[in-house]
Amino acid sequence: MTDLLQVEDLEVALAGGGGEGTVIDSVSFSVAAARTTGLIGESGSGKTMSSMSIVGLLPAGAKTSGRIAWKSENLLDAPARRLRQVRGHEIGVIFQDPLAALNPIQTIGRQVGEILRRGGMRRQEVRTKVLQLLDRVGIPDPEQRIDVYPHEMSGGMRQRVMIAMALAGGPQLIIADEPTTALDVTTQARILKLLADLREQEGVAMLLVSHDLRVMAHVADDVVVMYAGRVAERGPAREVLDKPRHPYTRALANNVPAVSTKTAIAEPLQGAPANPFDRPAGCAFHPRCPIARERCRTEVPQLREAEPGRFSACHYASEVSS
Ligand code: SF4
Repeated sequence: MTDLLQVEDLEVALAGGGGEGTVIDSVSFSVAAARTTGLIGESGSGKTMSSMSIVGLLPAGAKTSGRIAWKSENLLDAPARRLRQVRGHEIGVIFQDPLAALNPIQTIGRQVGEILRRGGMRRQEVRTKVLQLLDRVGIPDPEQRIDVYPHEMSGGMRQRVMIAMALAGGPQLIIADEPTTALDVTTQARILKLLADLREQEGVAMLLVSHDLRVMAHVADDVVVMYAGRVAERGPAREVLDKPRHPYTRALANNVPAVSTKTAIAEPLQGAPANPFDRPAGCAFHPRCPIARERCRTEVPQLREAEPGRFSACHYASEVSS
């Protein structure tokens, strides 16, 4: 497996809560070519911020360190102009809320074709290519839809337009941030099927950000479980979700019995997520962890290989079983 993207020791510091906080702390993961890596976690776990760091879409004033290796360059050091080139042409981005992300006063054809026009393509060629893209993402009657505005489409169709925009530049990687959260269950399944097809048929790698373990169980090859801005666990999706090596993953999976029959035991996730601006000392998960001990309150657990290909940031990973 060849890594297309490597995130190494990423840190992001932001001002907030009366001071500055390291909201992303020593996060490392990779995305292999033509595979889907899932970033999972509750709201505030840092999954969206980690993914947006890759394409330079961080809040103003954010300070970063570490390395984001993309084709032998570190995107954290890349100038804004280079990042704009990467976004769209090399890495496509799909946002959670297409209505907010799309321009309400431009037709969808104009928006999907924007990157092609900027690349110097002629008008008629752009139209032909946009029609192909709309057809590729499953929009019926592209000739009829190319000139409509976003508000004239359903939520599922708007998300398909976002996917067409992400594909227009011919990216090798697509970052999809909660792409199905705003959709009904049937539409969710169709969009996930489309994303899976794109990966299989066109070899586009995906970094899928979601709080929904059912989505991950169906789509991801590898998963990175995040808690309070740190990686809690990482490894092949099926193994991590079936046989967690971190109490946080186990609790998440137990809250969604459909994810794994092996983890369908009563152990609901107690308490509120940690605030990354004010993490508990030691293991940030210790106030919610059913097996926390004294050491957990003082010593931050490092991400270590718990078994071949499986990494866990828990002092007692060997005791965590399904
Ligand atoms: Fe629980 Fe301790 Fe492991 Fe953290 S290090 S997950 S508190 S057992």
